[in-house]
Amino acid sequence: MIYGERKVKAPIRWAMVGGGKGSQIGYIHRSAALRDHSFQLVAGAFDLDPERGREFGAGLQVAPERCYADYQTLFAAEAKREDGIQAVSIATPNGTHFAISKAALEAGLHVVCEKPLCFTLAEAEELRALAERRQRMLCVTYGYAGHQMITQARAMIANGELGEIRMVHMQFAHGFHSEAVEQGNPSTRWRVDPRYAGPSYVLGDLATHPLYLSEVMLPQLKIEKLLCARQSFVRSRAPLEDNAYVLMQYSGGVMGHLWASAVNAGSMHGQKIRVIGSRASLEWWDEQPNQLRFEIQGEPARILERGMGYLYPEAREDDRIGGGHPEGLFESWSNLYYRFALAMEACDAGEHDRVKALHIPGIEAGVEGVRWVENCVRSADLGAVWVDYR
Ligand code: NAD
Repeated sequence: MIYGERKVKAPIRWAMVGGGKGSQIGYIHRSAALRDHSFQLVAGAFDLDPERGREFGAGLQVAPERCYADYQTLFAAEAKREDGIQAVSIATPNGTHFAISKAALEAGLHVVCEKPLCFTLAEAEELRALAERRQRMLCVTYGYAGHQMITQARAMIANGELGEIRMVHMQFAHGFHSEAVEQGNPSTRWRVDPRYAGPSYVLGDLATHPLYLSEVMLPQLKIEKLLCARQSFVRSRAPLEDNAYVLMQYSGGVMGHLWASAVNAGSMHGQKIRVIGSRASLEWWDEQPNQLRFEIQGEPARILERGMGYLYPEAREDDRIGGGHPEGLFESWSNLYYRFALAMEACDAGEHDRVKALHIPGIEAGVEGVRWVENCVRSADLGAVWVDYR
Protein backbone atom coordinates (compact mmCIF):
# COMPACT_ATOMS: atom_id res chain seq x y z
CA MET A 1 0.00 0.00 0.00
CA ILE A 2 1.25 3.47 -0.82
CA TYR A 3 0.57 6.35 1.58
CA GLY A 4 2.52 9.00 -0.30
CA GLU A 5 5.69 8.92 1.81
CA ARG A 6 8.97 9.47 0.02
CA LYS A 7 10.69 6.20 -0.90
CA VAL A 8 14.08 7.66 -1.89
CA LYS A 9 16.47 9.13 0.69
CA ALA A 10 16.33 12.57 -0.92
CA PRO A 11 14.23 13.90 -3.81
CA ILE A 12 16.09 13.78 -7.10
CA ARG A 13 16.77 17.19 -8.63
CA TRP A 14 14.96 16.95 -11.92
CA ALA A 15 14.32 18.87 -15.14
CA MET A 16 12.13 18.47 -18.18
CA VAL A 17 12.87 19.01 -21.84
CA GLY A 18 9.59 19.63 -23.67
CA GLY A 19 6.22 18.92 -22.13
CA GLY A 20 5.38 22.63 -22.23
CA LYS A 21 2.11 24.50 -22.52
CA GLY A 22 -0.30 22.79 -24.89
CA SER A 23 1.72 19.57 -25.06
CA GLN A 24 -0.16 16.33 -24.66
CA ILE A 25 2.08 14.43 -22.30
CA GLY A 26 4.00 16.97 -20.16
CA TYR A 27 1.51 17.21 -17.32
CA ILE A 28 1.32 13.48 -16.58
CA HIS A 29 5.15 13.36 -16.35
CA ARG A 30 5.13 16.15 -13.75
CA SER A 31 2.13 14.77 -11.93
CA ALA A 32 3.70 11.29 -11.70
CA ALA A 33 7.23 12.43 -10.83
CA LEU A 34 6.11 14.85 -8.14
CA ARG A 35 3.34 12.68 -6.64
CA ASP A 36 5.39 10.74 -4.08
CA HIS A 37 8.14 13.35 -3.49
CA SER A 38 10.67 11.27 -5.44
CA PHE A 39 11.61 14.18 -7.69
CA GLN A 40 11.84 17.93 -7.36
CA LEU A 41 11.32 20.01 -10.50
CA VAL A 42 14.11 22.61 -10.42
CA ALA A 43 14.86 23.40 -14.08
CA GLY A 44 13.69 22.93 -17.65
CA ALA A 45 13.73 23.76 -21.33
CA PHE A 46 10.02 23.23 -21.63
CA ASP A 47 9.26 24.53 -25.07
CA LEU A 48 10.61 24.98 -28.56
CA ASP A 49 9.65 28.63 -28.10
CA PRO A 50 12.02 29.87 -25.33
CA GLU A 51 9.81 32.74 -24.19
CA ARG A 52 6.73 30.55 -23.90
CA GLY A 53 8.87 27.96 -22.10
CA ARG A 54 10.12 30.50 -19.56
CA GLU A 55 6.64 31.76 -18.84
CA PHE A 56 5.39 28.21 -18.45
CA GLY A 57 8.29 27.27 -16.12
CA ALA A 58 7.53 30.28 -13.93
CA GLY A 59 3.99 29.00 -13.59
CA LEU A 60 5.42 25.72 -12.32
CA GLN A 61 7.45 27.60 -9.65
CA VAL A 62 10.77 26.96 -11.42
CA ALA A 63 13.27 29.80 -10.78
CA PRO A 64 13.41 32.09 -13.86
CA GLU A 65 17.19 31.67 -14.28
CA ARG A 66 16.69 27.88 -14.47
CA CYS A 67 14.12 28.04 -17.30
CA TYR A 68 16.49 27.66 -20.24
CA ALA A 69 16.10 28.43 -23.95
CA ASP A 70 17.19 24.96 -25.10
CA TYR A 71 18.42 21.61 -23.78
CA GLN A 72 22.09 22.29 -24.60
CA THR A 73 22.10 25.39 -22.37
CA LEU A 74 20.11 23.52 -19.71
CA PHE A 75 22.65 20.67 -19.45
CA ALA A 76 25.70 22.98 -19.63
CA ALA A 77 24.46 25.51 -17.09
CA GLU A 78 23.14 22.95 -14.61
CA ALA A 79 26.45 21.04 -14.71
CA LYS A 80 28.14 24.15 -13.29
CA ARG A 81 25.84 24.37 -10.25
CA GLU A 82 26.47 22.64 -6.93
CA ASP A 83 22.76 21.93 -6.78
CA GLY A 84 22.47 21.09 -10.50
CA ILE A 85 20.01 18.57 -11.88
CA GLN A 86 20.56 14.81 -11.49
CA ALA A 87 17.89 13.61 -13.92
CA VAL A 88 15.87 14.80 -16.88
CA SER A 89 12.67 13.71 -18.58
CA ILE A 90 12.36 14.15 -22.32
CA ALA A 91 8.82 14.80 -23.57
CA THR A 92 9.45 16.14 -27.06
CA PRO A 93 8.49 14.77 -30.52
CA ASN A 94 10.19 11.49 -31.49
CA GLY A 95 12.75 12.96 -33.88
CA THR A 96 14.56 14.75 -31.02
CA HIS A 97 14.79 11.84 -28.53
CA PHE A 98 18.12 10.45 -29.70
CA ALA A 99 20.05 13.72 -29.68
CA ILE A 100 18.61 14.91 -26.36
CA SER A 101 19.05 11.52 -24.60
CA LYS A 102 22.62 11.31 -25.87
CA ALA A 103 23.44 14.83 -24.67
CA ALA A 104 21.84 14.13 -21.28
CA LEU A 105 23.78 10.89 -20.75
CA GLU A 106 26.99 12.62 -21.81
CA ALA A 107 26.22 15.28 -19.21
CA GLY A 108 26.06 12.50 -16.60
CA LEU A 109 22.29 12.64 -16.08
CA HIS A 110 19.78 9.89 -15.52
CA VAL A 111 17.17 10.00 -18.27
CA VAL A 112 13.48 9.28 -18.61
CA CYS A 113 12.66 9.40 -22.31
CA GLU A 114 9.37 9.21 -24.11
CA LYS A 115 8.71 6.34 -26.50
CA PRO A 116 9.75 5.45 -29.10
CA LEU A 117 13.27 5.89 -27.78
CA CYS A 118 14.66 6.79 -31.23
CA PHE A 119 14.35 5.94 -34.93
CA THR A 120 16.82 3.09 -35.56
CA LEU A 121 18.17 0.07 -33.73
CA ALA A 122 21.71 1.39 -34.32
CA GLU A 123 20.82 4.59 -32.43
CA ALA A 124 19.15 2.59 -29.65
CA GLU A 125 22.24 0.40 -29.26
CA GLU A 126 24.41 3.51 -29.13
CA LEU A 127 22.28 4.90 -26.29
CA ARG A 128 22.43 1.58 -24.45
CA ALA A 129 26.24 1.51 -24.72
CA LEU A 130 26.48 5.10 -23.56
CA ALA A 131 24.16 4.52 -20.58
CA GLU A 132 26.21 1.48 -19.58
CA ARG A 133 29.49 3.32 -19.96
CA ARG A 134 28.28 6.29 -17.92
CA GLN A 135 26.44 4.05 -15.42
CA ARG A 136 23.23 6.06 -15.81
CA MET A 137 19.61 4.92 -15.95
CA LEU A 138 17.71 5.38 -19.19
CA CYS A 139 14.01 4.72 -18.58
CA VAL A 140 11.21 4.81 -21.15
CA THR A 141 7.63 5.81 -20.29
CA TYR A 142 5.57 2.81 -21.29
CA GLY A 143 3.10 4.29 -18.84
CA TYR A 144 0.49 1.51 -18.75
CA ALA A 145 2.95 -0.91 -17.18
CA GLY A 146 2.44 0.64 -13.74
CA HIS A 147 -1.16 -0.60 -13.49
CA GLN A 148 -1.48 -3.09 -10.65
CA MET A 149 -3.45 -5.62 -12.69
CA ILE A 150 -0.51 -5.92 -15.10
CA THR A 151 1.60 -7.03 -12.14
CA GLN A 152 -1.18 -9.47 -11.17
CA ALA A 153 -1.25 -10.90 -14.71
CA ARG A 154 2.52 -11.36 -14.69
CA ALA A 155 2.34 -13.25 -11.37
CA MET A 156 -0.57 -15.45 -12.49
CA ILE A 157 1.22 -16.43 -15.69
CA ALA A 158 4.50 -17.07 -13.85
CA ASN A 159 2.62 -19.31 -11.40
CA GLY A 160 1.18 -21.42 -14.20
CA GLU A 161 -2.46 -20.40 -13.70
CA LEU A 162 -3.04 -20.31 -17.46
CA GLY A 163 -1.27 -23.57 -18.21
CA GLU A 164 1.05 -23.65 -21.17
CA ILE A 165 1.03 -20.33 -23.06
CA ARG A 166 -0.22 -20.66 -26.63
CA MET A 167 -1.27 -17.26 -27.98
CA VAL A 168 -1.01 -13.55 -27.26
CA HIS A 169 -3.46 -11.08 -28.77
CA MET A 170 -2.73 -7.38 -28.50
CA GLN A 171 -4.32 -4.27 -29.85
CA PHE A 172 -4.14 -0.51 -29.47
CA ALA A 173 -6.76 0.74 -31.85
CA HIS A 174 -8.42 4.12 -31.34
CA GLY A 175 -10.52 6.13 -33.74
CA PHE A 176 -9.36 9.68 -33.04
CA HIS A 177 -7.50 10.09 -36.33
CA SER A 178 -10.15 8.56 -38.61
CA GLU A 179 -10.01 11.81 -40.56
CA ALA A 180 -7.02 14.05 -41.39
CA VAL A 181 -7.25 15.89 -38.06
CA GLU A 182 -3.52 16.67 -38.29
CA GLN A 183 -4.37 19.53 -40.65
CA GLY A 184 -5.63 21.53 -37.66
CA ASN A 185 -3.61 19.97 -34.81
CA PRO A 186 0.18 20.44 -34.43
CA SER A 187 0.41 17.61 -31.84
CA THR A 188 -0.90 15.17 -34.47
CA ARG A 189 0.84 16.76 -37.49
CA TRP A 190 4.38 15.70 -36.54
CA ARG A 191 3.15 12.16 -35.80
CA VAL A 192 2.38 11.53 -39.49
CA ASP A 193 5.54 13.17 -40.84
CA PRO A 194 8.55 10.81 -41.10
CA ARG A 195 10.97 13.69 -40.47
CA TYR A 196 9.63 14.00 -36.90
CA ALA A 197 7.92 10.66 -36.24
CA GLY A 198 10.47 8.28 -37.76
CA PRO A 199 9.77 5.24 -39.94
CA SER A 200 6.27 4.55 -38.57
CA TYR A 201 3.21 6.15 -37.07
CA VAL A 202 0.91 3.72 -35.20
CA LEU A 203 3.54 0.96 -34.89
CA GLY A 204 5.83 3.21 -32.84
CA ASP A 205 3.24 5.51 -31.33
CA LEU A 206 0.65 2.93 -30.24
CA ALA A 207 1.73 -0.68 -30.79
CA THR A 208 4.85 -0.46 -28.64
CA HIS A 209 2.62 0.02 -25.57
CA PRO A 210 0.84 -3.39 -25.61
CA LEU A 211 4.05 -4.93 -26.94
CA TYR A 212 5.80 -3.81 -23.75
CA LEU A 213 2.91 -5.14 -21.65
CA SER A 214 3.45 -8.52 -23.30
CA GLU A 215 7.16 -8.33 -22.40
CA VAL A 216 6.21 -7.64 -18.77
CA MET A 217 3.67 -10.47 -18.58
CA LEU A 218 5.66 -12.98 -20.62
CA PRO A 219 9.36 -12.23 -20.12
CA GLN A 220 10.36 -15.67 -21.40
CA LEU A 221 8.83 -15.17 -24.87
CA LYS A 222 11.20 -14.37 -27.71
CA ILE A 223 9.99 -13.37 -31.17
CA GLU A 224 11.49 -15.53 -33.93
CA LYS A 225 9.62 -14.25 -37.01
CA LEU A 226 7.06 -11.63 -37.80
CA LEU A 227 4.86 -10.45 -40.64
CA CYS A 228 3.49 -6.92 -40.83
CA ALA A 229 1.02 -5.29 -43.20
CA ARG A 230 0.50 -1.56 -42.86
CA GLN A 231 -1.90 0.85 -44.53
CA SER A 232 -2.51 4.61 -44.76
CA PHE A 233 -6.29 4.87 -44.89
CA VAL A 234 -5.95 8.66 -44.80
CA ARG A 235 -3.85 8.76 -47.95
CA SER A 236 -1.94 11.96 -47.18
CA ARG A 237 -0.24 10.05 -44.31
CA ALA A 238 1.65 7.72 -46.64
CA PRO A 239 4.33 6.43 -46.32
CA LEU A 240 3.42 6.36 -42.62
CA GLU A 241 0.67 3.95 -41.64
CA ASP A 242 -2.44 4.73 -39.65
CA ASN A 243 -3.34 1.04 -39.36
CA ALA A 244 -1.20 -2.09 -39.09
CA TYR A 245 -1.53 -5.81 -38.46
CA VAL A 246 1.38 -7.83 -37.14
CA LEU A 247 1.61 -11.61 -36.80
CA MET A 248 4.37 -13.00 -34.62
CA GLN A 249 5.86 -16.42 -34.10
CA TYR A 250 7.62 -16.79 -30.78
CA SER A 251 10.00 -19.41 -29.51
CA GLY A 252 8.27 -22.62 -28.46
CA GLY A 253 5.58 -22.29 -31.14
CA VAL A 254 3.65 -19.54 -29.33
CA MET A 255 1.76 -17.26 -31.75
CA GLY A 256 1.00 -13.56 -31.36
CA HIS A 257 -1.05 -10.92 -33.08
CA LEU A 258 -1.03 -7.14 -32.70
CA TRP A 259 -3.44 -4.66 -34.28
CA ALA A 260 -2.51 -0.98 -34.10
CA SER A 261 -4.82 1.66 -35.48
CA ALA A 262 -5.67 5.33 -35.27
CA VAL A 263 -8.64 4.90 -37.63
CA ASN A 264 -10.76 2.43 -35.63
CA ALA A 265 -13.74 4.79 -35.93
CA GLY A 266 -15.80 5.04 -32.75
CA SER A 267 -13.22 3.40 -30.49
CA MET A 268 -11.89 5.42 -27.55
CA HIS A 269 -8.57 3.69 -26.92
CA GLY A 270 -9.06 0.00 -27.55
CA GLN A 271 -5.82 -1.10 -25.94
CA LYS A 272 -6.14 -4.73 -24.89
CA ILE A 273 -3.96 -7.71 -24.23
CA ARG A 274 -5.28 -11.27 -24.07
CA VAL A 275 -2.98 -14.12 -23.10
CA ILE A 276 -4.31 -17.58 -23.89
CA GLY A 277 -2.99 -20.71 -22.25
CA SER A 278 -3.90 -24.39 -22.44
CA ARG A 279 -6.07 -24.11 -19.29
CA ALA A 280 -7.25 -20.51 -19.11
CA SER A 281 -6.99 -16.99 -20.54
CA LEU A 282 -6.39 -13.53 -19.13
CA GLU A 283 -7.56 -10.27 -20.64
CA TRP A 284 -6.76 -6.67 -19.63
CA TRP A 285 -8.22 -3.55 -21.21
CA ASP A 286 -6.84 -0.06 -20.56
CA GLU A 287 -10.33 1.43 -20.53
CA GLN A 288 -11.10 -0.72 -17.47
CA PRO A 289 -7.64 -0.89 -15.89
CA ASN A 290 -8.82 -1.91 -12.42
CA GLN A 291 -10.17 -5.20 -13.70
CA LEU A 292 -8.54 -8.34 -15.06
CA ARG A 293 -10.70 -10.92 -16.78
CA PHE A 294 -9.76 -14.51 -15.92
CA GLU A 295 -11.47 -17.25 -17.91
CA ILE A 296 -10.90 -20.89 -17.04
CA GLN A 297 -12.09 -23.29 -19.74
CA GLY A 298 -15.43 -24.80 -18.68
CA GLU A 299 -16.06 -22.34 -15.82
CA PRO A 300 -17.84 -18.98 -15.60
CA ALA A 301 -15.56 -15.98 -16.34
CA ARG A 302 -14.16 -14.16 -13.29
CA ILE A 303 -13.41 -10.46 -12.99
CA LEU A 304 -10.51 -9.86 -10.62
CA GLU A 305 -10.55 -6.40 -9.04
CA ARG A 306 -7.63 -4.14 -8.14
CA GLY A 307 -6.84 -3.70 -4.44
CA MET A 308 -8.40 -6.97 -3.27
CA GLY A 309 -6.94 -9.45 -0.79
CA TYR A 310 -7.08 -12.36 -3.22
CA LEU A 311 -4.46 -10.79 -5.50
CA TYR A 312 -0.76 -11.66 -5.34
CA PRO A 313 1.07 -9.49 -2.75
CA GLU A 314 3.17 -7.80 -5.46
CA ALA A 315 -0.03 -6.68 -7.19
CA ARG A 316 -1.15 -4.93 -3.98
CA GLU A 317 2.12 -3.08 -3.27
CA ASP A 318 1.10 -0.04 -5.31
CA ASP A 319 -2.49 0.12 -4.05
CA ARG A 320 -3.15 3.77 -3.12
CA ILE A 321 -6.74 3.74 -1.87
CA GLY A 322 -8.10 0.22 -1.43
CA GLY A 323 -10.29 -1.95 -3.60
CA GLY A 324 -13.47 -0.58 -5.12
CA HIS A 325 -12.05 2.89 -5.75
CA PRO A 326 -10.94 3.38 -9.34
CA GLU A 327 -7.29 4.18 -9.94
CA GLY A 328 -6.13 5.21 -13.38
CA LEU A 329 -3.36 6.19 -15.74
CA PHE A 330 -2.00 8.93 -13.45
CA GLU A 331 -1.50 6.38 -10.67
CA SER A 332 0.08 3.92 -13.10
CA TRP A 333 2.62 6.54 -14.17
CA SER A 334 3.26 7.50 -10.53
CA ASN A 335 4.05 3.87 -9.74
CA LEU A 336 6.60 3.84 -12.55
CA TYR A 337 8.14 7.17 -11.61
CA TYR A 338 8.78 6.23 -7.97
CA ARG A 339 10.48 3.06 -9.24
CA PHE A 340 12.54 5.14 -11.70
CA ALA A 341 13.69 7.21 -8.71
CA LEU A 342 14.57 4.10 -6.70
CA ALA A 343 16.50 2.74 -9.68
CA MET A 344 18.43 6.01 -10.07
CA GLU A 345 19.28 6.02 -6.36
CA ALA A 346 20.42 2.38 -6.50
CA CYS A 347 22.42 3.06 -9.66
CA ASP A 348 24.19 5.99 -7.96
CA ALA A 349 25.07 3.65 -5.07
CA GLY A 350 26.38 1.03 -7.51
CA GLU A 351 23.72 -1.44 -6.29
CA HIS A 352 22.98 -3.15 -9.59
CA ASP A 353 21.02 -6.03 -8.09
CA ARG A 354 18.61 -3.52 -6.57
CA VAL A 355 18.16 -1.92 -10.01
CA LYS A 356 17.51 -5.32 -11.60
CA ALA A 357 14.89 -6.23 -9.00
CA LEU A 358 12.75 -3.22 -9.91
CA HIS A 359 10.21 -3.84 -12.66
CA ILE A 360 10.68 -0.79 -14.87
CA PRO A 361 10.79 -0.10 -18.59
CA GLY A 362 14.50 0.63 -18.83
CA ILE A 363 16.92 0.75 -21.72
CA GLU A 364 16.16 -2.87 -22.73
CA ALA A 365 12.49 -1.98 -23.21
CA GLY A 366 13.50 1.09 -25.21
CA VAL A 367 15.80 -0.93 -27.47
CA GLU A 368 13.23 -3.71 -27.94
CA GLY A 369 10.51 -1.24 -28.97
CA VAL A 370 12.75 0.25 -31.66
CA ARG A 371 13.92 -3.20 -32.80
CA TRP A 372 10.32 -4.39 -33.15
CA VAL A 373 9.23 -1.35 -35.18
CA GLU A 374 12.26 -1.74 -37.45
CA ASN A 375 11.39 -5.40 -38.11
CA CYS A 376 7.74 -4.54 -38.75
CA VAL A 377 8.63 -1.82 -41.26
CA ARG A 378 11.07 -4.17 -43.01
CA SER A 379 8.41 -6.86 -43.35
CA ALA A 380 5.71 -4.42 -44.49
CA ASP A 381 7.95 -2.73 -47.05
CA LEU A 382 8.94 -6.10 -48.52
CA GLY A 383 5.25 -6.66 -49.24
CA ALA A 384 4.00 -8.04 -45.90
CA VAL A 385 6.18 -11.13 -45.78
CA TRP A 386 7.50 -13.21 -42.89
CA VAL A 387 10.94 -11.97 -41.83
CA ASP A 388 13.38 -13.43 -39.34
CA TYR A 389 13.47 -11.24 -36.26
CA ARG A 390 16.82 -9.54 -35.79
P1 NAD B 1 3.33 17.68 -28.38
O1 NAD B 1 3.61 18.07 -29.78
O2 NAD B 1 1.94 17.82 -27.85
O3 NAD B 1 4.29 18.49 -27.39
C1 NAD B 1 5.67 18.53 -27.58
C2 NAD B 1 6.29 19.54 -26.62
O4 NAD B 1 7.71 19.52 -26.74
C3 NAD B 1 5.86 20.98 -26.87
O5 NAD B 1 5.74 21.64 -25.63
C4 NAD B 1 7.05 21.55 -27.68
O6 NAD B 1 7.16 22.96 -27.58
C5 NAD B 1 8.19 20.85 -26.98
N1 NAD B 1 9.42 20.74 -27.78
C6 NAD B 1 9.55 20.27 -29.03
N2 NAD B 1 10.86 20.24 -29.40
C7 NAD B 1 11.56 20.71 -28.33
C8 NAD B 1 12.92 20.92 -28.07
N3 NAD B 1 13.86 20.65 -28.99
N4 NAD B 1 13.29 21.41 -26.86
C9 NAD B 1 12.36 21.69 -25.92
N5 NAD B 1 11.05 21.49 -26.10
C10 NAD B 1 10.64 21.01 -27.30
O7 NAD B 1 3.81 16.18 -28.23
P2 NAD B 1 3.26 15.08 -27.22
O8 NAD B 1 2.01 14.50 -27.75
O9 NAD B 1 3.26 15.62 -25.82
O10 NAD B 1 4.38 13.96 -27.41
C11 NAD B 1 5.69 14.12 -26.94
C12 NAD B 1 6.33 12.74 -26.84
O11 NAD B 1 5.59 11.98 -25.92
C13 NAD B 1 6.33 11.94 -28.15
O12 NAD B 1 7.52 11.23 -28.27
C14 NAD B 1 5.17 10.98 -28.00
O13 NAD B 1 5.37 9.76 -28.71
C15 NAD B 1 5.18 10.74 -26.52
N6 NAD B 1 3.88 10.35 -25.95
C16 NAD B 1 3.87 9.31 -25.10
C17 NAD B 1 2.70 8.89 -24.51
C18 NAD B 1 2.74 7.76 -23.54
O14 NAD B 1 1.70 7.20 -23.20
N7 NAD B 1 3.91 7.41 -23.03
C19 NAD B 1 1.50 9.54 -24.82
C20 NAD B 1 1.54 10.65 -25.69
C21 NAD B 1 2.74 11.06 -26.24
